[in-house]
Amino acid sequence: MERDYDLGLVEIGDGTFAWLQPDGSWGWSNAGLITGDGASLLVDTLFDLKLTADMLSGMAAVTANCPIGTLVNTHANGDHTFGNQLLGGAEIVATEACAEEFFDVPADALAAMIETDYGDPVVNGFLREAFDPFEFGGIVMTPPTRTFTDSLRLSVGGRTVELIEVGPAHTEGDLLAYVPDTKTVYTGDILFIYGTPIVWAGPFANWVAACDRIIELDVDTVVPGHGPVTDKQGAQMVKDYLEFVHREASVRHAAGMSAADAVYDINLGDFADWGDSERLVVNVQAVYAELEPASELPPIPELLLGMAHYARR
Ligand SMILES: [Zn+2]
Repeated sequence: MERDYDLGLVEIGDGTFAWLQPDGSWGWSNAGLITGDGASLLVDTLFDLKLTADMLSGMAAVTANCPIGTLVNTHANGDHTFGNQLLGGAEIVATEACAEEFFDVPADALAAMIETDYGDPVVNGFLREAFDPFEFGGIVMTPPTRTFTDSLRLSVGGRTVELIEVGPAHTEGDLLAYVPDTKTVYTGDILFIYGTPIVWAGPFANWVAACDRIIELDVDTVVPGHGPVTDKQGAQMVKDYLEFVHREASVRHAAGMSAADAVYDINLGDFADWGDSERLVVNVQAVYAELEPASELPPIPELLLGMAHYARR
């Protein structure tokens, strides 16, 4: 599996495309396009209006005779939804759980969070570096217009696209978009390839089950939410990471170590060279939250503080 990949549209199967944004770090997400007879389906928009508009014009030659009538949001995070308004008139399909949390972190709240002075130059610098490339002005939060639970079969100009609910995992409302005729699946942020997954929702067992679901599908081509196009091996890699973190954090929890200390005590080994390794801070907290009934993830600023310092260690 190649770690290096190019920006833009790539045809990964007959009438089946990915739009890729290296290097897959914070906010640099992928999208997908499935074209049928006279109609197309877009999987996810991007983090701001310019990036999404550039993508749509990059797809224009392909969609000229088969306009995008359906948009699927794999989950509610802004790097997969903030461009939704540019698909005027398209039906927007997502899980019911995705729709329920759609407005939890709107674009203006994210912009305000990035401009906040946390009184700590390490945190301020971490946020600016990650999010300065994006423009959050002008975004009108544009939610799903059609929701489902469990699964939903769509027809796109005669082709079948199966949506499979697998959350809560990365978020409360994750789904997979499976295209049987080209043995392709778009996984949203169930898969980060050569980047570190971040467990905002969990439980870990659900996310591991989602990886198994991908491995059980009849697919050869797997498009992750971030990172290069992969195959089932990519799902196995993410499953291995999640099981590793859950195991390592659980051992330290049982020994009475704090989550903050556990993060620095864990040796990431083969996973250390994945991008954004600071997400370990959130992931260890997520394990501790699972192991301590009635506890939750700490507030976002505290998690940012932890990640910023880990990233600068
Ligand atoms: Zn994402």
